[in-house]
Order: sequence, then C-alpha cells, then structure tokens
Amino acid sequence: MSNSQNAMLVDGRRVEGRGGSREVFNPTNGTVLAVVADASREQAHEALAAARRAQPAWAALAPLERAAIMQRIAALITENAEELARIVVQEQGKPILEARGEIGGAAGFFSYYAEFARRIQGEILPSDARGEQIWIQRVPVGVVAAIIPWNYPAALVSRKVAPSMIAGNTIVLKPHEETPLSALYMARLFEKAGVPAGVVNIVTGSGAEIGEALTSHPDVNLITMTGSVPTGKRIMATASANLVPVSLELGGKAPFIVMDDADIDLAVRSAVTSRYMNCGQVCICNERTLVHARVYDRFVETFVAASRSLRLGDPLSEQTDLGPKVSARELEKVERIVEAAIGAGAEAVLKGGRPDTPPVAGGYWMTPTVLTGVEPAMPIMQDEIFGPVVPIMKVADFDEALAIANDSRYGLSAYLFTNDFSKIMRAVNDVNFGEVYINRVGPESLQGFHNGYRNSGLGGDDGVHGLEAFLRKKTVYANYSGTSPVGLMPYGG
Ligand code: NAD
Repeated sequence: MSNSQNAMLVDGRRVEGRGGSREVFNPTNGTVLAVVADASREQAHEALAAARRAQPAWAALAPLERAAIMQRIAALITENAEELARIVVQEQGKPILEARGEIGGAAGFFSYYAEFARRIQGEILPSDARGEQIWIQRVPVGVVAAIIPWNYPAALVSRKVAPSMIAGNTIVLKPHEETPLSALYMARLFEKAGVPAGVVNIVTGSGAEIGEALTSHPDVNLITMTGSVPTGKRIMATASANLVPVSLELGGKAPFIVMDDADIDLAVRSAVTSRYMNCGQVCICNERTLVHARVYDRFVETFVAASRSLRLGDPLSEQTDLGPKVSARELEKVERIVEAAIGAGAEAVLKGGRPDTPPVAGGYWMTPTVLTGVEPAMPIMQDEIFGPVVPIMKVADFDEALAIANDSRYGLSAYLFTNDFSKIMRAVNDVNFGEVYINRVGPESLQGFHNGYRNSGLGGDDGVHGLEAFLRKKTVYANYSGTSPVGLMPYGG
C-alpha cells in the first residue's frame, strides 16, 4: 500500500511500482515535476490477473449499478476539474483553457457512457425450426488492456475506461511514461467513487516494458491503443500471436481545404485554431492547408498575421494561446521536419522555432512556422508534423484539392470550408477520411465515431460504434418445442 499521490491502482489498492522510477518534466520550464515509480512486468501481470478476477462480478451487476459508479466518477472529475486541469497543464503543457476543455471531456465520457445502462440491447431472430427462438446478446469482451499517448493524458483515460466499464469489462490502463500524473490523479478519483477492486487498474512504465507486458499477455480480450502508427503496428503484430482483437487510434495528416466561396475570415480563424491547439499536438490538427488560387494570397497573408500574433506563454495563464512542446525530444523532431522541408525547397513565409527570449526559461518553446512552395509528394505534405508548423498549398479547383487531400497514407480527419452545396456533397461522398468537418473545426463529439482509415487506425472508442468494440456477441438457440430439431438442418455452418 502507498500513501503517495502518484501511486498506481492495482486490485483496488494504491501501490508503488517496483520497476524503478523516472522523472516527469514540466515542459514549461524543464524542471522535474515529480518522480514516478514504474511498474515491474510482474505488477503489470498482477493487474491483469486482478482484472480477470474482478470481471465476472462486475459484469453481473445491473448496468444501472455500474452506471451509478460512473456518474460518481463524472461528478468527482467535475468537482476536481481545476486541480486536474492544472496537472494536465503542468505535465503536458497545453494552455489552461484547453486543459479545462479536456477535463470537461474526461467527465463527459463517464456521464455519456453511463447513459448506455439501458441501451445495450440484443436481438431476437426467427428460427428455421418450430418452437425455437434465436437470441443475439451483447456481452462484455472480458479484460481490456489500454495504452494511451501524452497529448490528452486525462481525456483519453476516460475514453478507454468509461466504455469498458459500462460494457461490463475490467481494464488495465497504461498512460504515457512522460505524462502519467493525470491518470494517477484519476486513479484516486476511481478509488473514491467506489470502483470495486480490480475493475480499473492503472499501471505506469515505458511502452517497451510495461506496454509490451500488457499487450503480449495471452489473457487479454481487447487491446485499445491510442498513439503513433509505428507503435500501433507493433502492438497489432504482438496481439496477433494471441489472436487478441485490437482497436487502434493512430496518427493523422488532416487536409484543410478552403474554397474561394468560403467565409475566408472564418476559414483563417479555424485553420489557426486547428493547427495550433495544444501546440499542434493533436491527431486531428490541420496538417496541410489547401487553398483555392483565387483566395490564396489573402488567406496566406491573414493566416501568417494571425500565426504571428499568437501569444506564446505560460500555459497556466488564461492569456496564453500557445504553450510549450511536450518534450525536448518532440521539439527537436519538429525542428528537423522544418529544416528538411526548407532543404527540399519549401519557403518559410513565417520562420518560427525556438524564441530568442522564451516566456519562461528552460521550457520547450516553439513559435509558428508557415511554409509555402510545397508539393504534394514532399515529406512535409505526407508525414505527420505534430507541432506548430503548417504547409500551405495553392490549388486550382476543388478536384485538385480533393485529389491531394486523398493522396495520403493517413485517413483520420479532413476539413472543408465552402458554402457550395455540391462541393459539400462531393466531400461527403469522396473525401476518403473517417471524419469530415465542414465549415467548423474539431474536436469530435462524444457521440460521433472518431475512426481513422488506412494508417490512421482500426476502429475507435467513442459513440455507439466505439462501444461495440468493448462488447462481443453471443448467439443463443433457445428451443422450447419439447422436440429438439435433430437430423438434417436447413443449413450447416
Ligand atoms: P507513442 O506511440 O509513442 O506512444 C503511445 C503509447 O504507446 C505510450 O503509452 C507508449 O508508452 C506506448 N508504447 C510504446 N511502445 C509500445 C509497445 N511496444 N507496446 C505497447 N505500448 C507501447 O505515441 P505518442 O507519441 O505518445 O502520441 C502521439 C501520437 O498519437 C501521434 O501520432 C498522434 O496522432 C496519435 N494520437 C492519435 C489519436 C487518435 O485518436 N487517433 C489521439 C491522440 C494521439
């Protein structure tokens, strides 16, 4: 047992990891925010065993009983929203106004999925035989292993835990090793809400060690992971050895199309928000802006001016638009992407980077960069940037924009700004992405389905369709005729 604020949650007890420890940095000033113990592989396996033991009794509760606990979690997150938002800011670096939005989502997933207590339904089908019915029931998958990234360290906990709970599953979740504090704070709220032992377990540690210990374990029934494409592919390969299904929410390279009939001021404001929220570190961010030739010059000029005027600063201040990058590693990665793009012929109409006078010393600061003169095949137009850098390309018409947008190995989110109904309908039909925003920016809604095509993933966690991944089906052939059908059946599978 541990009294530490940052203890893990395993089998209903707050325990210290036995796998060594690591420093968690505050990206605003580069100082050590906390030292957090890693789980050992053995502890990860203990958490899975606890989840397995707890699952039958949890599934046996009436859904309304599970929902009541989830509503308490939602209420506790809301009561503690400001403290949790500040933890998110301190470990991850997004501006406080955005962090408050994230915590709203973190509570929202619990109250939204609690509403499904009366909505997980089965089906009754007619049988081929007399005196018989066929029932298809939705039943829990069992034990879920969940892996999340650093960019939404609180909301993504909820996005995995809430659907798992209402479905009657138990779960072991591993936060990203660089941002474990939000999840560990939420672990305290789960305990306080009266979540039974083993139903939700939070373990810390690296992906290679603890992520792998969870995802390679044979006694897991679903792996749900949000993160990068290479990690997603690795997890899928590992899971295949045990035939465990995977749900993967991976990277994005969202096209942001602006047509000449659009409200250009709205389009610029939206393009700015969509590129720079969370310092560009969102899977649905505007990663490549495609602008109609007739409005291109005006758009670029206004966009550059708006990018220049963003207030870089302490993310705990409500006056801040742009906080720091999450880590020195991520900052350096984005710097390399910009240099390579310029080396390949892109022109920096706004050249940002590390500011000469950072708002707070020691932080991982980066001001916006806007690139033009880009071609669709360039890496800057094909690879996820995940930072405050955007390439803008001039397109002759909607057909060209559509072709460039779809020419991507990613397929998560796409944006279109136009008031032309026929272009909107063509986008609905022909934009080959899992999520299309028309004349608005993200984020996605709880009741939507955030799912990526191609390398952006497999499945998703939200809405009615997200919940499906946490359930499986059981078919029951119920014969009440007193003469069970034997012999030749109409169809044999
Ligand atoms: P990442 O892949 O580096 O890490 C994600 C998680 O996977 C971490 O918890 C990490 O420890 C774990 N992990 C790493 N190796 C592992 C292994 N071998 N086995 C098991 N787990 C392992 O991703 P990141 O840098 O934290 O996140 C950024 C990426 O996440 C971006 O590509 C972004 O687009 C994507 N993302 C996608 C969505 C979405 O909904 N589609 C949402 C947020 C972020």
